[in-house]
Amino acid sequence: MSILSNIIDAAKEVVEVARTTAQGMSVTLSHIPTRKETVSYPEEAVTIYRRFRGEHFLDVNEDGKEKCVSCFLCAAACPADAIYIEGAEDQRPYEERIGQDHRYAKVYQIDYGRCILCGFCVDACPTDAINHGHNFEWAVFTPGEMVKDKDFLLANKWREPDVTPNENQLHLAARQKMDKLNIILK
Ligand code: SF4
Ligand code: SF4
Repeated sequence: MSILSNIIDAAKEVVEVARTTAQGMSVTLSHIPTRKETVSYPEEAVTIYRRFRGEHFLDVNEDGKEKCVSCFLCAAACPADAIYIEGAEDQRPYEERIGQDHRYAKVYQIDYGRCILCGFCVDACPTDAINHGHNFEWAVFTPGEMVKDKDFLLANKWREPDVTPNENQLHLAARQKMDKLNIILK
């Protein structure tokens, strides 16, 4: 190969590098005047879509009675074997008992070391007792801390930005005091 063709090839390479660099820089520069997408979370609220499936909460009715009737359908539907329930009977009159039904969950746990947030438990629940919230902060130091119990899951509802307990539900919200999520639902 002659020296001339070597020089031509090198020149072509320089032109190609300059062209692709300019192309890349034009994309970068075009984004500079637009609104920034990063936020300084947790100092600033982060926007989360309503359909996002985060950590669950267990729901109560308007009277503050737990909606879960311990039917085990959620646990049966769970492909990750993440839900553990112990059912119990509460034969007291409605005003005094824990749940909206005589049957309730004495123990209800979700292991977030196993949960894959598929939503099957939420779909399976006949009483809308189990729902996805929007919390995504799950960092803990030990696997045992990934198992969330009933008190935590009940209180988790009140962390949602657009949910406020009525006076019948206040005692549940206070049972395990947790800060509101610093999120904006979109
Ligand atoms: S979201 Fe899916 S994996 Fe998680 S507890 Fe529910 S059914 Fe199980
Ligand atoms: S959360 Fe719903 S599906 Fe699961 S045991 Fe309670 S009532 Fe049944």
